[in-house]
Amino acid sequence: MSAQVKSSRQVLRGTPVVPGVVLGPAVVPGPRVEPAIDTELVPAADRDAQLQAFGRATTAVAKRLQDRAAVSSGSASEVLAANAAMATDRGWLGAAEKLIATGSSAAAAAVAATAQFADLFAKLGGLMAERVTDLNDIRDRVLAELSGLPEPGVPVPDVPSVLLADDLAPADTAGLDPSLIIGLATSLGGPTSHTAIIARQLGIPCVVAVIGLESVVAGTQVLIDGGTGELTVSPDVEVAAKAVAAHQLIAARTAAWSGPGATSDGHRVDVLANVQDGAGARVAAGTAAGGVGLFRTELCFLDREKEPTVDEQAAIYREVIEAFPESKVVLRTLDAGSDKPLRFANHPDEANPALGVRGIRIAARDNGILDRQLDGVAAAAEGLRAPWVMAPMISTAAEAKWFADKVRERGLVPGVMIEVPAAALLAERILEHVEFLSIGTNDLAQYTMAADRMSADLAELTDPWQPAVLSLVARTAAAGAAAGKPVGVCGEAAADPLLACVLVGLGVTSLSAAASAVAGVGAKLGSVTLDECRRAAAAVSQTSDPASAREAARAVLG
Ligand code: PEP
Ligand code: MG
Repeated sequence: MSAQVKSSRQVLRGTPVVPGVVLGPAVVPGPRVEPAIDTELVPAADRDAQLQAFGRATTAVAKRLQDRAAVSSGSASEVLAANAAMATDRGWLGAAEKLIATGSSAAAAAVAATAQFADLFAKLGGLMAERVTDLNDIRDRVLAELSGLPEPGVPVPDVPSVLLADDLAPADTAGLDPSLIIGLATSLGGPTSHTAIIARQLGIPCVVAVIGLESVVAGTQVLIDGGTGELTVSPDVEVAAKAVAAHQLIAARTAAWSGPGATSDGHRVDVLANVQDGAGARVAAGTAAGGVGLFRTELCFLDREKEPTVDEQAAIYREVIEAFPESKVVLRTLDAGSDKPLRFANHPDEANPALGVRGIRIAARDNGILDRQLDGVAAAAEGLRAPWVMAPMISTAAEAKWFADKVRERGLVPGVMIEVPAAALLAERILEHVEFLSIGTNDLAQYTMAADRMSADLAELTDPWQPAVLSLVARTAAAGAAAGKPVGVCGEAAADPLLACVLVGLGVTSLSAAASAVAGVGAKLGSVTLDECRRAAAAVSQTSDPASAREAARAVLG
């Protein structure tokens, strides 16, 4: 990755890991090339010089690591200090010195002594085995020092910089100083790689698996957007500075958001969390979410061979209700089938499960599963605020009525999800039977666009900004307003702050998103007026594709 000329403007893409927008010159780690090692015996007269060279190299390496440990803090400082100690470890130094005394060159001795210890550490296993990478890192540093090559691994830049690498060794990442390495991009690794974990911990905006990263040369300005996964090489300076400033403003606003959900002129919109169990609900309760807008109950049972008993179900549901004792909790009955098969639901073998017996259709074949689940919900709610209960994959008003009767019999509040275009088109008639609707934009997009939501090739079609999907949302929200009943959105669309405002402009009364997205959505909504949301919705309604829809919304909402 080294060259004298700067790279020209281009946009590279990778997997977003840590959100944030930063601009800075690229720095790249020094190469870890092993210098050629002389295997010939060193004449006896020259052995002392080799011994001294080895001593100087190990002392220099240890000192550099100690200096860095002194200016770092927390676990980073501990890792660096431990590595410095390794470079002066008597056992390792002694093994190398013995080899030098018998004719090895300093470099060959460093390699052989390291191999001996690496072998031993690997055999010991566990934490010791994990130190092998650190030991090899020390060896590479000593070898570079002996050959007069620049230090391998992460350089310490003079100005805040963006680090580009294939991947990083643990010692490299632990030593990162977030005030100097302000962004990170790697060509390898995934969202759970070591690099990603450390970047997340240090809060350094990060993108991994970037295609074409090797072509970017050190010194070139790069703009990283850890939220979208985009890396712009040699960006327009003014545009990049604006992007960084805008992000800083959003980050500050998001951190400060404490609810409740409302536009800047006070129009209340519940901003809720999607959860999948009690633990998730407790995490969500630590955010400013105003309750739970979607509890995906099927996710509690994906590993079960047998249907959980009513009591078992009640205990699980109760945990979620208890996490939000004063707030609304919307529980969805089992959405089994298609991408979420449940072993105990006895799914028939189908050529096309997304269009088959899934969601409420399973209950129609086997009433018992739904009845027992509703009994479990009713038992869970005893003595607590009763949750609202909704059915997935409703297609007809008759299904909605059938479900609502069962829910009311148990003293619970019935609603249904709008995920099938037929249900959106007949929302008025469905609302005659239920108290609320919740739009699942993930499936609504899949069925409206006839595009599998799991297909990466069809991602543009299943984009929730598709104007056809938003038109069905508008229709459903209008039906809710006419009936005086709430209509929420709990699909991924509600997690996109800009789109969330458009949904409010279309008439949606609540938004439910992953706990991590709640503050971003609430903060954005709090920065715009209801009239702006409505104007954005009107502008989006005139567009024909997702890109123009986004553009139209941005023009009004910023
Ligand atoms: C949806 O389809 O938008 C939804 C919220 O349900 P799920 O993603 O669980 O299918
Ligand atoms: Mg769905």
